[in-house]
Amino acid sequence: MNDCIFCKIIDGTIPSVSVYEDDDIKVFLDISQTTPGHTLMIPKKHVANIFDYDNSLARHVLPKIPVIARAIKKSNPQILGLNIVNNNGEIAYQSVFHSHFHFIPRFAASDDFAMTFKDNSSNYSSEELEEIASRIHKNMED
Ligand code: AMP
Ligand code: ZN
Repeated sequence: MNDCIFCKIIDGTIPSVSVYEDDDIKVFLDISQTTPGHTLMIPKKHVANIFDYDNSLARHVLPKIPVIARAIKKSNPQILGLNIVNNNGEIAYQSVFHSHFHFIPRFAASDDFAMTFKDNSSNYSSEELEEIASRIHKNMED
């Protein structure tokens, strides 16, 4: 994965402002600082996105999310909330194809981060919702 910018951050060939690292993850400041304290957590193992996590990688990486979230929250009393964002695929706004979780501290409703959730609930019958849920359920791994 020589061309991966985040692998280069892990091996130190590209600098980063490091927050924390252990055998499984590296945590560093996102260069964009969308809001102050905008942080990224990446697995040290190169996987492109969430679809490539096996159970072992998930067990080693994902439990650290709340630990990092609490540390960020405690780091600044002005932080009122936190968005945790994980983009998977270009269509989902992923631009670096080494899996990463954004931690975006929130300071005000009008700070520099926003998300839109359109409400399409009136377009669905309960049968259609059950069908969607069932199709997802059938594809759950053990
Ligand atoms: P995404 O669009 O979800 O793939 O997010 C990629 C993120 O990586 C963006 O928020 C970038 O600002 C961030 N990023 C890219 N290069 C660097 C870098 N060298 N150091 C820190 N963050 C970076
Ligand atoms: Zn990588």
